[in-house]
Amino acid sequence: MNFQYWHPQTEKMPRSELEALQLQKLKEEVGYALRTTFYKKRLEGAGINTPDDIKTLGDLDKIPFTTKHDLREGFPWGFLSAQKEEVIRLHASSGTTGVPTTIYLSGDDVRRWSGYVARCIFATGCNKSDVFQNMITYGLFTGGLGFHYGGEEVGMMVIPSGAGNTDRQFKLMQDFGTTVVHATPSFLLHVESKMKEAGVKRESLKLKRAFAGAEPYSEDTRKRIEELLKVDVYNSYGLSEMNGPGVAFECQCKAGMHIWEDGYIAEIIDPDTMQPVKEGEIGELVLTILCREATPILRYRTRDLTGFYTDPCPCGRTHRRLRRIRGRSDDMLIINGVNIFPSQIEEVIMGMKEVGNNYLIVVEKDGALDRLTVNTEVRPEIFMDDSRPLNALKEKIRKTLQLSISINPKVDLHESGYLPVSEGKAVRVKDMRPKDL
Ligand code: ADP
Ligand code: ZN
Repeated sequence: MNFQYWHPQTEKMPRSELEALQLQKLKEEVGYALRTTFYKKRLEGAGINTPDDIKTLGDLDKIPFTTKHDLREGFPWGFLSAQKEEVIRLHASSGTTGVPTTIYLSGDDVRRWSGYVARCIFATGCNKSDVFQNMITYGLFTGGLGFHYGGEEVGMMVIPSGAGNTDRQFKLMQDFGTTVVHATPSFLLHVESKMKEAGVKRESLKLKRAFAGAEPYSEDTRKRIEELLKVDVYNSYGLSEMNGPGVAFECQCKAGMHIWEDGYIAEIIDPDTMQPVKEGEIGELVLTILCREATPILRYRTRDLTGFYTDPCPCGRTHRRLRRIRGRSDDMLIINGVNIFPSQIEEVIMGMKEVGNNYLIVVEKDGALDRLTVNTEVRPEIFMDDSRPLNALKEKIRKTLQLSISINPKVDLHESGYLPVSEGKAVRVKDMRPKDL
C-alpha cells in the first residue's frame, strides 16, 4: 500500500520526541488552565501553581480528573481561558446524556483543529481531487463544521449537505460526483435502505469512501456498510470536549484509530479504581487536550470504553491506536442482573445476512423481572408474509444472543423502514423501566 501523510514529520515522529513534545505542550496547556476560574481553584488545590510544577509527563498524575459534571458546573464561562473577544467559535456536545456542555475556540484553535481533521482525512487516501459530501448535522454539533473545515483544508470540494433527506443526498451525489461521505453509521445504513426505493443505481455513483463515527458500531456493521454500499469505511472518533472529530481516526490499514498524540494525551483507567489499566486492556479513556488555548480541558473522563493496540501499525505512524469504542460506561444495561452493552447485541445481529439495517432494543418491567425485546428490521428480500423463514430467523437471533451474552430476549421482526431513524446519533435503546427502582 502507498501511504500518504499530511504531516509526515509529526505522524512518524519517534516516540521519545513525541513525548518531549507532549510535555512541552502540556505545560502550555496548564498555563492556559490556570487562567480559568475552574482550574485555578482545582489546580492550586492540587499544588500546581505554575506550569513549571509539571516537570515530567508522569506529573500528569498530580492533575485531578475533570468530569462532565465539572463542565456543567463551570457553565458558561468557568473553562474559558481567553478574553471573550479572542473567541471566534462556540460549539456544544450533542447532549446525549444530559445538559450539553460548551466549548470556545480562538482563531488559532480552529486552524489547529482543522489541521487534525485534514490529517485524518488524508490518512484514508483522500486528496484535493475528492468531492466530499458531509451528511452530518451542522450547527452546534462539532461533526458538521469540524469535518467541513478539515475537508476544505485538504482542498476537497466540500458539499455541506447536512444530515437527513436521502433523496436530496442522492441528487447531490449524482450531480456532483461525490466520492467520499461522512455520516453516522446508522445514517449510512439508512441511505443504503433508501437507495432502491429512490431508484438510484450504485453504478451511477462515484462513491469510494465513507467516514463513519459519532456513535458506537460494530465491525460487522462496518462490513455490512462496505458490502452494501461498496465503499471503504473508516472509523472516526471524537468528542466536543476535545474539539470534536479529528481526535482518533483509522488509516488505510483499518487496524484501530490512531490518536494524534501531539494534540491529545490519552490514558486508559479502570473506572472503579481510577488507576491505569495494563497496556492493551480495556478501560475508560481519559483525554487531555494539547491543542486548544481558549478552553483547556485536562484529564477528561470520557466514559468511553476502549483500549490500545500494542503492536505497531504497518503505515509507519507512531501515534498509538485505539480499539473500536465499545460504548460509554453509562450505556451498560443491567438485565436481570446480567451486564450487557447494546453494542454486544449489535455485534450478534448485524452479522446475520437476513437482518435489515435498523434495530431498537426495548427494556421493560414484567412483574419483578426485566424484559428485553430486540426489534430488528429484515432485509427487503425477505418476504414478510411467509411466517416460516421469519420464525426461523427469530429463533436464530434469540438462540445466538442466549449463547453469546446469556440473555433470553423477545425478538420482534419488522419490515424495512419500520423503525424510527434519527438524523443525529441513533437511539438504540428505549429503557422503559421506572427510574427510581
Ligand atoms: P455527547 O457526549 O452529548 O454525545 P458529542 O457530540 O461530543 O456529545 O459526542 C461524543 C461521543 O460520541 C463520544 O464521547 C463517544 O461516546 C461517541 N462517539 C464518537 N465517535 C465514536 C465512534 N467512532 N465510535 C463510538 N462512539 C463514538
Ligand atoms: Zn496506521
